[in-house]
Amino acid sequence: MNIKTRFAPSPTGSIHIGNIRTALYSWLFARKQGGKFLLRIEDSNLQRSVHDAVKFVVSGMNWLSLDWDEGPYFQTDRFARYNSVINYMIQHNMAYKCYCSSERLELLRLNQIKKGEKPKYDGYCRFKSTAINYNSCVNSYVVRFCNPQKGVVIFHDQIRGTITFSNKELDDLIIRRSDGSPTYNFCVVVDDMDMQITHVIRGEEHINNTPRQINILKALKAPIPTYAHVSMILDHERKKLSKRREALGIMKYRDDGFLPEAILNYLVKLGWSYGNQEIFSIEQMKKYFDFSGISKSPSIFNFEKLLWLNHYYINHLPIDYVASHLSWHMRQQRISTKNGPQLTDIIKLFSKRSRTLKEIADNCHYFYIDFNIFENKVAKDYLKPIAIMPLKYLKIKFSNIVHWTPETIKSVIIEAVNELNVSMDQIGMPLRVALTGTDRSPTLSRIIHAIGKSRVLERINQAVRYISTRCIQYTSK
Ligand code: GLU
Repeated sequence: MNIKTRFAPSPTGSIHIGNIRTALYSWLFARKQGGKFLLRIEDSNLQRSVHDAVKFVVSGMNWLSLDWDEGPYFQTDRFARYNSVINYMIQHNMAYKCYCSSERLELLRLNQIKKGEKPKYDGYCRFKSTAINYNSCVNSYVVRFCNPQKGVVIFHDQIRGTITFSNKELDDLIIRRSDGSPTYNFCVVVDDMDMQITHVIRGEEHINNTPRQINILKALKAPIPTYAHVSMILDHERKKLSKRREALGIMKYRDDGFLPEAILNYLVKLGWSYGNQEIFSIEQMKKYFDFSGISKSPSIFNFEKLLWLNHYYINHLPIDYVASHLSWHMRQQRISTKNGPQLTDIIKLFSKRSRTLKEIADNCHYFYIDFNIFENKVAKDYLKPIAIMPLKYLKIKFSNIVHWTPETIKSVIIEAVNELNVSMDQIGMPLRVALTGTDRSPTLSRIIHAIGKSRVLERINQAVRYISTRCIQYTSK
């Protein structure tokens, strides 16, 4: 069998974690089976322009390297096809025109509720050949599918097992609205049929659509795909994901400094397991992914775990690759990295202490941009007159270093501690503030090395001038 899966988002906004997980599962299944994966934009119900939303889908998929073999198809390009299938169905008594007015339908609904019945269309226009006379001045009509009236629809969901629906529960679905537009469930059916989809992997919110879609497929004598309905993702309080964090558009995760590998690894594990393994390369995901590992229960989103994975990938992926992603963040922050250390060196300095690339980008400005302002509190605590002498001493010693390495720098600092008979903090903290403008940084000797000799000497000078000016201000007050 030629396996074919699809990702079929409705482009209602940005594409979020839940959508992407479904896309990933469909993609992995197709790739594992050597099948095809296609992208279909389900825009049939949307009035407004979906241009931006489609851009989000495509850029999210590209960022995660979830490539597709066909598409993107747009449902709005296929209305002629949907309508020709509807006309065929009317001609072959698989569908009929329904002229019932909204008043009749409302009355029907109220009566059914009063009788304690589940509201559903009663098939009036299906059975009355004179139905059109019901209200002859009405010439607008919808088209309804002749749903089987007896029997059951059974499908073997790959995640949830056998699911059975009674046809009595299903009414004659509207497949074309009175304005001539085809409805959502119908478009999906025609698409899955025309595109020869063999496996439909989608969110559990679509389970109730499945028997309706299967009945239409059967009427059209089309093959029935295999279905797999993936459970919901909930937050740690078992509530719907909040837009403030987890349900953000996928590109927000890129902006926040996550690597695609971390997101994919996180998502594949969110609802699927393979023994106790936590870390999966893309190749391993493709190799091991299967429906039997997918859980039926809702998955709980754990942001800490995502951060943990991101930290893992920052530290384990090839450093040049991580640097290429960091470079994107630096450009976003408009920091030119031409005059300063290589980004691979920055990653070596920060990777152990950072969980996102944005964190690294935010904290490494001082390697590339000179500054003349110190954080107030930090300056007050560390740039005090008592620091002038050690700073001047270090400046001389640093300027004498011939081989500028973290080791030679470290021995100068240790020598200063011994010779000046001060603690490491007494000398290290003013130096750190002088060089970085803040009181937090990776190991001093390594950042001094990366900042470079001339910049280090200049910044010590600047700090000494700063302290002296402040002294004068204080003494003259
Ligand atoms: N367009 C639907 C959604 O975004 C998916 C429908 C399907 O996969 O059949 O939820």
